[in-house]
Amino acid sequence: MEARRLFRLDNEVLAFRFTATMSDRVGAEPQERLSDPGRLEIWLHAAGLSVPDVSPTELQDALTLREAIYRAGLAVAATQRPNPGDAAILNGAAAAGQPRPGLENGLAVWHLSKEAPVPDALGVLAADAIQILGGPDRSRIKACEGPGCAGLFLDTSRGTNRRWCSMNTCGNRVKKARLADR
Ligand SMILES: [Zn+2]
Repeated sequence: MEARRLFRLDNEVLAFRFTATMSDRVGAEPQERLSDPGRLEIWLHAAGLSVPDVSPTELQDALTLREAIYRAGLAVAATQRPNPGDAAILNGAAAAGQPRPGLENGLAVWHLSKEAPVPDALGVLAADAIQILGGPDRSRIKACEGPGCAGLFLDTSRGTNRRWCSMNTCGNRVKKARLADR
């Protein structure tokens, strides 16, 4: 199955793209898109982190990490510090992975070990989250105002006035709702 049909892959920040695998978070029916280990394998492949397979335990570890990233991101979006427990989950995942960066054909890639490719991939996601949540752009982290969404995004607009995780989805939904109200 195609990753694009299963997931929303348009978030520029890898760690936030990962948190978007649970969508409509504050809506009536949150959508869990990582509903089985095979789905995580497809998502990782689309993120440039191909692994041969994913065990049920590894899926659980991934979901634990994802939710810690999401909670920490919401805290930062509200100009608060991430909860120490969530920070510990991120730090633990980052320390457990041993991915190696590489430059190949002019592009940055990650090499995962044969022994523990999934922990390595989760390490990449955790490190990305740490860099963005604790880095110089952290004041640009926002939660989407789209109906039911609350997805995390990095507002890189010049006036830092972006309100939606994506113009194609939430931005459009809001626009359509406004037109319908008229
Ligand atoms: Zn949104």
